[in-house]
Amino acid sequence: MHKIQRLLLNVVIFLVLTFGIMIPLYVHYTAVRYTGAYDTLYLSEYSPYDTILLEVHAQEGVEPYNSSLAVLGDRVRQYTGKEVIVATFHDIGNDEIPPVIKDYDVTRLGNKIIKNHTQYHTDWFTGRIVIYIIYTGAKWSGETKSSAAGVTYNANSMMVFKEIIPDAETETAILIHETGHLWGLEHSNNSNDIMNVHLDEYIISHLFDGLPNDFSEKEKKLLGEKHNSRFIFPIKPYEPLYSVVLNLVNTMVSP
Ligand SMILES: [Zn+2]
Repeated sequence: MHKIQRLLLNVVIFLVLTFGIMIPLYVHYTAVRYTGAYDTLYLSEYSPYDTILLEVHAQEGVEPYNSSLAVLGDRVRQYTGKEVIVATFHDIGNDEIPPVIKDYDVTRLGNKIIKNHTQYHTDWFTGRIVIYIIYTGAKWSGETKSSAAGVTYNANSMMVFKEIIPDAETETAILIHETGHLWGLEHSNNSNDIMNVHLDEYIISHLFDGLPNDFSEKEKKLLGEKHNSRFIFPIKPYEPLYSVVLNLVNTMVSP
């Protein structure tokens, strides 16, 4: 074999290993554990995924509001520009979920439920990407706040605590708020924003005059930037490393 052919073969093998195996492995097994890490995979027009599947699993006797899921579907379509499919399954047995879920246990429990019930998967490289939504009648119990109506975990999952949600309007706001977290949005202190810090801990209806069902102008701008972004690689797992390096550099340069 010619030297040049051997070199080309090595380049091809390297590219296939990197883009076909290493990067997808990183995306599906490492980045998936970080909320917000899939932001541009969902939002960017350059994402390899062109369809978003909202896969809903509900506990026995727990009924999601179809109107809330429909509004969420519209919002996801609006901000991502992708095709959106909503699929609802009433398939979580009451014996699968304890009556009270501790905040540190949400991820473990959610992962177990999805492992047992998932119908669709995020495709390996291109095609369909999933957002998992688990509806439960359980109560949420945390260390730092007293209650929660919605919690995000992983890069692609949320849990909705149906018992303390009074109506469809609230459920819509909570679904969109949690989706905002999956898209990397932080909390806001402005009481009119859907990302308001009190929205997912709930007991909030008195804080809002009319719950929002869309993102604020500032949040829309951030989502728009992610929609236009050509950089779609999930760097979230490395963010702590960035801040450590940045702090180190700052300490070194400051007198
Ligand atoms: Zn929140």
